Amino acid sequence: MSVHFRKLALIGIGLIGSSIALAARRQGLVEVISIATRKQDTLDEARELGLGDIYTLDAAEAVRGADLVVICTPVGAYEGVMQAIAPALEPGAILSDVGSVKGHVVKTLAPLIPDGVSFIPGHPLAGTEHSGPSAGFAELFAGRWCVLTPGPEVDPIKTEKLAGFWRAMGSQVESMDAAHHDMVLAITSHIPHLVAYNIVGTVADLEAATQSEVIKFSASGFRDFTRIAASDPVMWRDVFLTNRDAVLEMLGRFSEDLSILQRAVRTGDGPALEAMFTRTRAIRRSIISAGQETAAPDFGRQHEAPPAPETPFVREHGGGDDA
Ligand code: NAP
Repeated sequence: MSVHFRKLALIGIGLIGSSIALAARRQGLVEVISIATRKQDTLDEARELGLGDIYTLDAAEAVRGADLVVICTPVGAYEGVMQAIAPALEPGAILSDVGSVKGHVVKTLAPLIPDGVSFIPGHPLAGTEHSGPSAGFAELFAGRWCVLTPGPEVDPIKTEKLAGFWRAMGSQVESMDAAHHDMVLAITSHIPHLVAYNIVGTVADLEAATQSEVIKFSASGFRDFTRIAASDPVMWRDVFLTNRDAVLEMLGRFSEDLSILQRAVRTGDGPALEAMFTRTRAIRRSIISAGQETAAPDFGRQHEAPPAPETPFVREHGGGDDA
C-alpha cells in the first residue's frame, strides 16, 4: 500500500511538527507540506528553517486540499483549531494528531469531524525537553513507538496507510483503545514527569546554601530529573488537565508504594529495600533488551572532554553534552 500523501498539513510546528516535516520530506512521503501556527515569529522561524512549502497563520487555508492533516499543538488548543479547520477539511482526508493524551482528544474532536474525514488519533512516544520549530530533527521517531487509537468507524485501510507513514519515518506502530493508552502513558510518562517537576520544585524551595550544592553535585541523579522537569510547561499543564482520572489512579498506587518504601527506610528493613531495587533493576534491563534505551554507561551520554592532561591519553568519549 502507498504511504505517500499529496499534501500534508501540520497545524503547530514545534518539536513534533517540525520533526514530522523533516522526516516526511527526507523519506519522500509527501509532495507538499503546508504549515500553520499561531504566532508570526514561529511561522517566520519555520520558513527560515525551510520546513515546508506553504506557510500561513490561517489553519483553514493550510488544510485546504490536504489528504493528511496532523494537529501538533498542545492538547488545550485542539478545540479552537478544530473549529477553524473543520469546514475546510477535504472529504477522504485523514485527520490525525500527536497529543500525549487520547481519551480527551477523542471526546473533544469526534463530534466536530465532518462526514467523509477519517479521524485517527496518534501519539508518537518520542520527544525531548526542547520546544519550537528549531528543536525538531528527522531521526526523532526512529526506533520509537507510535500509538494510533482509531475508533471502530474508521476504515482499516486508512489506519494502515497512516501506520505505514509512521513506519516510513522509523516508528514501530501499535493500535489500541484511547482509554488504555491514557492509563499506560499515565504511569510510563505522566507520573515520571510529575515526580520530576516535584523533586526539582522541592530543590527550588530549599535555602540558597543547600540549593547551590544540589546544583554542584547534580550528576548524582538529580540531573536526570532536571532534564525532564525542563519540558514544555504548557504542554505538560494540558497533559495533567486532560488525563486527570488515569493520572490520579496511578498516583494513588504510586503513593501506596512510596509509603511502603518510606516504612522500609524508617524501620531499617534492608531485605525489603534490596528486593525492591532488584525488581526495578530487572525492569530497566528489559527496557534495554526491548531496544528502548541504550545499555551504555550513563545512558550513552557524550561527555565534555576534560582539560588536556600533561601526559597524553586516549579519551573514551568526546564531543558535546547530552541533549
Ligand atoms: P512545542 O514545541 O511547544 O510546539 C507547539 C506548537 O503549537 C508551536 O508551533 C505553537 O506555535 C503551536 N500552537 C500553540 N497553540 C496554538 C494554537 N492555538 N493554534 C495553532 N498553533 C498553536 O510542542 P511539541 O513538543 O511539539 O508538542 C506538540 C504536541 O505533541 C502536544 O500535544 C504534545 O502533547 C505532543 N507530544 C509532545 C512530545 C514531547 O516530548 N514534546 C512527545 C509526544 C507528543 P506558536 O509558537 O505559534 O504558539
